[in-house]
Amino acid sequence: MRFRELGHTGMKISQLSFGASSLGSVFRDVPEDEAIATVYKAIDLGINFIDCSPFYGITKAETVLGKALKELPRDAYYLATKVGRYHDREFDFSAERVTKSIEESMERMNVDYIDLIQTHDIEFVHLDQILHETLPALVAAKEAGKVGHIGITGLPLHVFDYILDRADEGIVESVLSYCRYSLNDHSLAAKFDKYQAMGVGIINASPTSMGLLTERGAPDWHPAPKEVIEACAEVVQLIQSKGQDIVELAVQFACHPEAITSTLVGTANPKNIEKNVKFLETDMDQESLAEALAILKPVLNQTWASGLPENQDPGVVVTG
Ligand code: NAD
Repeated sequence: MRFRELGHTGMKISQLSFGASSLGSVFRDVPEDEAIATVYKAIDLGINFIDCSPFYGITKAETVLGKALKELPRDAYYLATKVGRYHDREFDFSAERVTKSIEESMERMNVDYIDLIQTHDIEFVHLDQILHETLPALVAAKEAGKVGHIGITGLPLHVFDYILDRADEGIVESVLSYCRYSLNDHSLAAKFDKYQAMGVGIINASPTSMGLLTERGAPDWHPAPKEVIEACAEVVQLIQSKGQDIVELAVQFACHPEAITSTLVGTANPKNIEKNVKFLETDMDQESLAEALAILKPVLNQTWASGLPENQDPGVVVTG
């Protein structure tokens, strides 16, 4: 396993890291013992960064993760979670709620310190609230010794620029972007230089584009446009017909850029986390990569609307 420093936080985190949303049964019903075994397997394999949120499984993921963390030494992992998103359409980024949320998360996860606290999916609210209310509350939590570092998450890349261009230097130490650097969407690459120059760590989540690039395919709630889902399914079929594993190519592609500090992959299956770590030992099959990219070319970088109209990336329109 390779380790890179997350921005200027001093945290040297694994190139592949563990996304705990699966523990909340967001992709399938997950037996608790299997979920907990996956966390232990991840740590055994050298993964030292775990990301969660109260939103995943509506507190279930944090609760299950907490049962696993109870048995692990606190210095075996860096722990990230989030504040502000509590249900599909329930957001509260007020200072009071996010301060309370940190306490609730610590209790569920059986820890008394969170290494990285992140604002979850900020595109759903007016970003000036994040700047003027949420971030100051998180800074206060940092000063109180409850959290180590502060990050922001979301889908449109515009929201990262809005915050990073306005917040005082050093307040926001990482961005967590999802589904924007994977085989079908390379948009995040355009931001690598800017974020690195600002000393902001880059966490790239969802190498399979939240299941699009898996043999099981997209879950029924997947928000991607139909043509993206279909093109990804075609790639899955192609790679399968060659006797290869689509997740291998997807993980290798997402982890490849040096600018990305860490790529978060989610699974609640110990065998899959083992495979995912093993995938990093080999280079991408260039022929399969070229064939996959050729299929995906017509839908490359196509994303979907998420959040308020004012927070979308150029060209993305909120409907309904
Ligand atoms: P992902 O691309 O990691 O895909 C997860 C899916 O891939 C699951 O269905 C899982 O079973 C499957 N999978 C994983 N490894 C596999 C393997 N070897 N073989 C077959 N299938 C495999 O997407 P994700 O879970 O949404 O993202 C990873 C993590 O990133 C999340 O758990 C979360 O921590 C983080 N994330 C954060 C945000 C946010 O902050 N807004 C959004 C998305 C993801």
